[in-house]
Amino acid sequence: MKGIYVLIVQVGTDMVLGIGALGEVKFRKSLYAYVGSTQKNLQKRIERHMRDDKKCFWHIDYLLQEENTKVIEAFFKEGKKAEECVIAKEIDEKGDRIEGFGSSDCKCKSHLFRIRGYGFLPELMSSWMNRA
Ligand SMILES: [Zn+2]
Repeated sequence: MKGIYVLIVQVGTDMVLGIGALGEVKFRKSLYAYVGSTQKNLQKRIERHMRDDKKCFWHIDYLLQEENTKVIEAFFKEGKKAEECVIAKEIDEKGDRIEGFGSSDCKCKSHLFRIRGYGFLPELMSSWMNRA
């Protein structure tokens, strides 16, 4: 299955992190939502995000390799890559964007947002898995 996914990331403490070419980014102890897509194996991609032992390739890898961060839930749905940015815009309206994060190859301002909650997500996405 290929498609779009949204990772709910719990950042456990305030911190400043180096995010590859993006440089230093300030994070708050809060929930964040990251939007991505893959045209290959969606489940495999999500599992990759949940592992700690990997090389940093995407911006999100730098955030998730930190020990004070973890993916607590992952939402996904089948869809084309263009839909990834539609979902990102929806979340942008509800959260605070981290400028330039995860959006190097599209026109979005960001694909990572600080959110207060994610009760609105099941409506946007068709499935999810809880990691708790
Ligand atoms: Zn985008």
